[in-house]
Amino acid sequence: MVELDGRRALVTGASRGLGRAIALRLAKDGADVAVNYLSSEAAAQGVADEIRAMGRKAVAIQADVRDDAAVRAMTDEVVAELGGLEILVNNAGVVADQFLAFMTDEQWETVVETSLRGTFHACRAAVRVMMKSRWGRIINISSDAGLTGDVRRVNYAAAKAGIVGLTKALARELAGQGILVNAVAPGIIDTDMTADMQQARRDTLLDMIPLQRFGKPEEVAGLVVFLCSEQASYLTGQVLSVDGGLRM
Ligand code: NAP
Repeated sequence: MVELDGRRALVTGASRGLGRAIALRLAKDGADVAVNYLSSEAAAQGVADEIRAMGRKAVAIQADVRDDAAVRAMTDEVVAELGGLEILVNNAGVVADQFLAFMTDEQWETVVETSLRGTFHACRAAVRVMMKSRWGRIINISSDAGLTGDVRRVNYAAAKAGIVGLTKALARELAGQGILVNAVAPGIIDTDMTADMQQARRDTLLDMIPLQRFGKPEEVAGLVVFLCSEQASYLTGQVLSVDGGLRM
């Protein structure tokens, strides 16, 4: 366990999957947590209830990260409800897989707008709060696909590679202000996003992963929480893969 007592965190896309595991782990390690979601209200309220049951403060907030006004309003609500904001985890993301030749503008936009523009919006709103206290941690969820590419995923790989550039640029920009910015690049993790994968694709990927299994959301959450802690005080601008050795 790492020590996050008194920290206030916002996790985007925290109703399910990785975001849910990250929100719960942050709370377990002592943080109060805002649980953002797009449409899964009951699931998000359930995550907030679990956090409160741990004795931490929690609030579930609906906001589409593609919408800057909604993200600003959410950030204001986090500060009002939790009393501040020191940790931001940009996790919200979607896929819309298609070969480039057949990819629609909508498939491009929904993926790039959610992951990349959403991260930009949330960083901008949160940094304005963090700069006042001169302490902050921003963790952006990229993907191995953003580092190596992936078939039928030019939209997703572009968005996730964009997050890498944004992370490094922002890490440099905020280094003198006590705000550390890092990215985590998961490999293949068992969530709704990977649940529909065909067995043949699953078998091919398992052959490529040295640890010979997909990851669990909790295994990503552990790394994220470490990056939020004082133990990671000399780490910024990094992209850390958590992928069972898939990309090495
Ligand atoms: P998931 O189970 O599909 O959950 C996606 C989450 O994002 C949900 O909470 C969803 O909210 C939220 N969301 C989607 N669009 C949103 C928007 N416009 N505004 C706010 N929230 C939005 O996905 P996951 O597998 O946990 O993935 C989480 C992150 O990890 C994503 O960025 C993904 O690209 C990345 N990642 C995942 C894997 C993997 O193998 N699973 C690998 C590498 C990277 P609702 O429930 O309300 O729809």
